[in-house]
Amino acid sequence: MVKVEIDEGSGFCFGVVTAIHKAEEELTKGVTLYCLGDIVHNSREVERLKEMGLITINHEEFKQLHNAKVLLRAHGEPPETYIIAKENNIEIIDATCPVVLRLQKRIKQEYMQEDSDEKQIVIYGKNGHAEVLGLVGQTTGKAIVIEKLDEARQLDFSKSIRLYSQTTKSLDEFWEIVEYIKEHISPDATFEYYDTICRQVANRMPNLRKFAASHDLIFFVSGKKSSNGKMLFEECKKVNPNSHLIDSAEEIDDSLLPGVNSIGVCGATSTPKWLMEEISEAIKAQIKRQ
Ligand code: SF4
Repeated sequence: MVKVEIDEGSGFCFGVVTAIHKAEEELTKGVTLYCLGDIVHNSREVERLKEMGLITINHEEFKQLHNAKVLLRAHGEPPETYIIAKENNIEIIDATCPVVLRLQKRIKQEYMQEDSDEKQIVIYGKNGHAEVLGLVGQTTGKAIVIEKLDEARQLDFSKSIRLYSQTTKSLDEFWEIVEYIKEHISPDATFEYYDTICRQVANRMPNLRKFAASHDLIFFVSGKKSSNGKMLFEECKKVNPNSHLIDSAEEIDDSLLPGVNSIGVCGATSTPKWLMEEISEAIKAQIKRQ
C-alpha cells in the first residue's frame, strides 16, 4: 500500500490568509472589489476568488481607475500607490502583511535619517518583486537591490552600508552576504545589517527538509511565479532529488508513480490547502488505476 501524505506545515502564511479573508469579507457583501496584482502567486486560488467576483488589475489599470474599492495584497505597495488612490478617490482595503508593513517603516526611517546621502541602503531581494518595489519605494527609489551574493561584490565598500532583506529570502544566503560585506567594508565606513526574513517562511525549512527526505517521491505544489515557492522547492530538491514542482493535478507525471512506497505532497506559503488535498486525492486515484 503506497502512503500519500500532505505536509501539515505547508500552506498559506498568516499574511496571505488575512488578505484572502479580507477579500472574501468584501465580496460576500456584494461590493465590486478590485485587487492590485494577483492576491497570491497561485493561479488556482486567484481563479477561485475571481469566480467570487474579485477583479485583478495591474498598476496601469489602477492609475486609470476612479471611485472604486481596491484591495492591496500582503506584499505591500510603495507610497505612490496610496497617493494615486487619494487622487482618484479609491478606497483602499489594506491587506499589507504587518511584518512587511513594519519593514517598510524601518527602511523609511533609515532613509529619512540625516546621514542618508552618506550610506547605501541595500535590500537583499528579488528585483521587480512586488514586496521589493514597496520597500524600494520607501527610499524614493534610492535603495540598491541585490539578488544574490555575487551582486554584493558590486557594492561600494568605501561607503557605509545598511542591509535589509525581503521577507521571503533565504536565511543562509543572507548570512553569507553579511560575512562578505564584513570582510570587505572599509575601516572608514560602517556596516549594519538587519535580519528581516519572515519566520513564517524561514522556520518552515527544517521541517520541510525532514518531510521531503522521509518520502520516496515529492510533489511540491506551487504557482510558478512564487519566489517563496521556488526557494522552498530548491530546498526539497537538495534533500530529495525526486522532487517535482507542479501547480495542478493535471501536471502529475504518472510515470513517476510505479515503484515508490511513499509520496509526499507539500507546498509554499502561497499554496492553498484545498489544492494539496485535491492533488493528494488525484495521486491516490491514479495509483488505484495502475
Ligand atoms: S511570508 Fe511572512 S511577511 Fe510574507 S506575507 Fe507571509 S507572514 Fe507576511
